[in-house]
Amino acid sequence: MDEQLPTRQKPNDAHFPGTLGSVEVFGIPVRFHFTFWLIVVYLIVIGSRGQQSAAGTTLYILSIFGSVLLHELGHAVVAHRFRIRTLEIVMLPIGGLARLERPPRGREEFWVAIAGPAVNLIIGGALMGFAWLGGNSLAPETWMAQPNDSNLAERIGIANLFLAVFNLIPAFPMDGGRILRSLLARWRPENEATRTAARIGMGMAAIMGLYGLLAGNFFLVFIAFFIYVGAMQERVASDQQELIGSEIVQPAMVTDFRTLNHGDTLKDAANLLLATTQQDFPVMAGQSVAGLLTRQAMLRAMASEGPEAYVAGAMDRDFLRVPPSALLSEVVQLIASRQGSCALVFEDDTLVGMLTAENVSEFLILREIRRARDGAREQGS
Ligand SMILES: [Zn+2]
Repeated sequence: MDEQLPTRQKPNDAHFPGTLGSVEVFGIPVRFHFTFWLIVVYLIVIGSRGQQSAAGTTLYILSIFGSVLLHELGHAVVAHRFRIRTLEIVMLPIGGLARLERPPRGREEFWVAIAGPAVNLIIGGALMGFAWLGGNSLAPETWMAQPNDSNLAERIGIANLFLAVFNLIPAFPMDGGRILRSLLARWRPENEATRTAARIGMGMAAIMGLYGLLAGNFFLVFIAFFIYVGAMQERVASDQQELIGSEIVQPAMVTDFRTLNHGDTLKDAANLLLATTQQDFPVMAGQSVAGLLTRQAMLRAMASEGPEAYVAGAMDRDFLRVPPSALLSEVVQLIASRQGSCALVFEDDTLVGMLTAENVSEFLILREIRRARDGAREQGS
């Protein structure tokens, strides 16, 4: 199915909300969440006390975030080898997030997940190796307790080893949880592997949270909560996948929908939004589809450009394009990984339908009702 996906330009609409500033590294947009900047400033301010120079502290903190970024690039590079594009890397206070255009499957997942911690192990190992060759008697506790400019490299090394170990905790959404799932999936069905890995993740989070509470370590409680929620989300997604089974897109898609013309204005689009229950509109240029105007993009452009601007300026040219024979479960994952917009369904080059998360759930509900009725009729006869 991947062959059906066109080479897309940079996504302009589907990126992570709440980011402030971005740079591009190897063609991948790296965006910074606004809370990321708050934590950088906070760390520099509290870190400037003690024996370190302000420059040393700044360098230390920037190196840690640089290490997190290299970790995410590790995921991105291996994903690229499996022809999975990285939509963006988002830097958050708790670490980074590499958003891939589709989730890696089976064996791919193992290599993509392990690449991140491997980067930190290499950096940490190298820095510690240099320290050891330089005759430094390895006593990490003293460096961390007495940070100064001369043990900067060693502290960056230890932080990288910590990042590697922390990410290898076998619990979703840590890399270790994904590695565990891909290993389990070698011997059992994917859904069962996900459920087992999720259960282990929730169990570990519960133990970690309890320990954090007893030890008064609230950072640990926070991390445990984050892991618990992540594991639960994976489980819910896996249950939904199982419910969808091997259905294809064709019977679930919307075939009666309205389109816009690329010469239309945002005002025309807003009228259509009010007149219909549709949220996203394909934008046509003659017989072919030039883009997709989502409700969010329409409202945003309306606020910044005004109602007389053209829809062509606000539409997403990078929309999701799938054939009617695509597996529903895969398309649902693709829609979710792009922050819940919709997919356009093409038969050869003709637009034949649209698929949104809502109409997938309607389709599933109707299917369950039909099955229940069929079951009742069989019992009655
Ligand atoms: Zn990672």
